[in-house]
Amino acid sequence: MVSVTTAVRPSSLRSRGTVPLPKRLSILGATGSIGRSCAQVIAAAPGRFSVVSLAGGRDGAALAKCAIELGAEFAAVADPAGYPDLKAGLAGHAVEIAAGPAAVEEAALREADLVVSAIVGAAGLRPTFAAIAAGRTVALANKETLVCAGEVVMERARREGSIVLPMDSEHNALFQAIGGRDPGAIEMMTITASGGPFREWSAERISAATREEALAHPNWVMGPKVTVDSAGLMNKGLELIEAHHLFGLPADRLDVVVHPQSIVHGLIAFADGSLIAGMASPDMRTPIAHCLAYPDRIASGVRPPDLAALGRLTFERADQRFPALGLAIDALRSGGGAATALNAANEIAVAAFLDQRIGFGDIARLVAKTLAAMTATGELSAPADIAEAMAIHHIATDRTASLLA
Ligand code: MG
Repeated sequence: MVSVTTAVRPSSLRSRGTVPLPKRLSILGATGSIGRSCAQVIAAAPGRFSVVSLAGGRDGAALAKCAIELGAEFAAVADPAGYPDLKAGLAGHAVEIAAGPAAVEEAALREADLVVSAIVGAAGLRPTFAAIAAGRTVALANKETLVCAGEVVMERARREGSIVLPMDSEHNALFQAIGGRDPGAIEMMTITASGGPFREWSAERISAATREEALAHPNWVMGPKVTVDSAGLMNKGLELIEAHHLFGLPADRLDVVVHPQSIVHGLIAFADGSLIAGMASPDMRTPIAHCLAYPDRIASGVRPPDLAALGRLTFERADQRFPALGLAIDALRSGGGAATALNAANEIAVAAFLDQRIGFGDIARLVAKTLAAMTATGELSAPADIAEAMAIHHIATDRTASLLA
């Protein structure tokens, strides 16, 4: 559960005299979609932030550009193959560089006031957990951290007093809507789904969708993995699991509603009939700015929605045409290692879809087959620590890969 009541020192209190010191940031996943939006928000708030470390996946040249742009002290590329480009790109610049997974963890552990966790996929788990175990405040955009090992991660955050700020737009809206209230008083928590590009398609047509069709999201500009997840509503399923861990609500008090305009991102209902909506334009700079400045507020470059100009906000129930959502809800209900395996199987299946090795409908079919196989062999017990979560992740990865072959 998010420590919404934990006292947070406003950044303005960490000051020298009357001039506030910049908030020190580590950005993990600096070259991705969230990382680039973070850079825009930082550029729009001069003097407000300083960047102590960056981490990227494999594109050393892009990471070098980010490091120069943000004035980073340290840049780590996860894949050592990206090191030569990182080195070449930073020749003549006083930026420390390193490569490999340990270097990414080092980036997560540099002395920072806030760690942005925006690495795509399960690769984000270890560095994010390292930051949480060190008691850092973490702005979490990597939902896989909680999907893979939510109990372990949130338990450690509570123990270390680490504050986890939700950067995912739906959870950020819910976090803001909750304010300081006790999440236990919430009767129902709802996240919205735009419905993606296939909202009005038949189940047969969705199953046969191409890569280009799946990547054509109507409202959000995101990386390819999350865009494909959004098209099949797997993303919404992963977000329900994420919300369960962040806010401590059980599956039967978490819901999804389709809202094509993507203006309302989260809703919380109380026993007295009150319903509070968290609204913003569909632009990641809003939740990013909220997390970066928290508990202060800064301009993000995005204006609040103009409701009169929008005219209509519509809502629909999510239906059975999206089997991935049902699979994720089943994994949430069954608990144990089911969500860990679901996420791993989905990563492999989405990568195969993006490589055009399988069709869109095969993604959910592969995930379902992997979960069925691991249920039959009794390999879905709850992970007790990060190593066990990663072990389940790797077993599921191998199972899915062999089902693919
Ligand atoms: Mg989201």
